[in-house]
Amino acid sequence: EKTNETFEPIAISDAASDDDLIWNISLQARIDTALANGEIYLAFQPKVGVMSGALVGVEALVRWNDPARGHIAPDQFIRQCENAGRMSQLTRHVLIEGCRAGQELHRNCGPIPVAVNISATLLHERSIVRMVRDVLAETGYDPRLLVLEITETYRIADLGRAAAILAELKALGTKISMDDFGVGAASLEALMYLPFSELKIDRLFISRMGSDPKAMGIVVHILRLGQELGITVVAEGVEDQQTLQLLRDSACPVAQGYGIARPSPLQEVIRFQKLAPQSAA
Ligand code: C2E
Ligand code: MG
Ligand code: MG
Ligand code: MG
Repeated sequence: EKTNETFEPIAISDAASDDDLIWNISLQARIDTALANGEIYLAFQPKVGVMSGALVGVEALVRWNDPARGHIAPDQFIRQCENAGRMSQLTRHVLIEGCRAGQELHRNCGPIPVAVNISATLLHERSIVRMVRDVLAETGYDPRLLVLEITETYRIADLGRAAAILAELKALGTKISMDDFGVGAASLEALMYLPFSELKIDRLFISRMGSDPKAMGIVVHILRLGQELGITVVAEGVEDQQTLQLLRDSACPVAQGYGIARPSPLQEVIRFQKLAPQSAA
């Protein structure tokens, strides 16, 4: 079992010690410095074909290497970043780095899409469209290889507006993915109104497939739903071979998880692809 501390960030306790409280407040002020100093970087996790085992995509996951605190997981700073009004800056940085990594991946492994996480709250404003268009122009990355994973879809206040913004993003050539499907309210409503070409089953269901018949039933039905709607389904949080086998038996097309590959530096993903079976998928 391989561990990579750099790319498996620590979780900071929720217990609100004075120290943590002060840290959380100062974090808002320090995000700009962190962006400027290159403390914010990306880890990459493979998405593989369930039948072939081939690399079919890569998800970029943001990390913060804080000089004082060490490596911090996104769950520990995304919300504060948002509260501090810095989500656009963070997202722009992630998009640029994601596109650059995508080009490197393309050079080494061929046309494999890179997915970047986009907080649903950014779909309240059209400025996200200009941001993505600018980053694509600036980096020269092929828009058809960029996937936008929309997280926390339940936080979309106005589905009509979000649908219009996503249609513009899609018109740039990008693909739109619905993250964490099944958790949070209104996910079927969002699925109906928004132009998704991929949906990712939340790991809550995947992790319980082998032990809980209800979870298994839900996964089977989400897979069927994806088929009916012509949307690619990705199982996230696949931690072991038993789960991967259940997904194979259920004809799930794509999987991602620690049991397949952990988030890691891009070079490690490139090595992974060289070892994995090739596929035209
Ligand atoms: P997500 O997009 O659903 O990403 C998957 C998370 O699950 C990642 O955690 C990944 O490391 C973890 N994971 C992958 N495979 C397994 C597994 O087999 N078992 C378990 N237990 N976990 C697994 P991470 O990197 O800490 O990211 C957490 C969340 O933070 C992401 O969830 C996403 O919602 C958000 N996030 C990450 N990067 C960004 C970003 O650049 N922008 C925004 N807005 N949100 C981001
Ligand atoms: Mg994601
Ligand atoms: Mg997810
Ligand atoms: Mg998730």
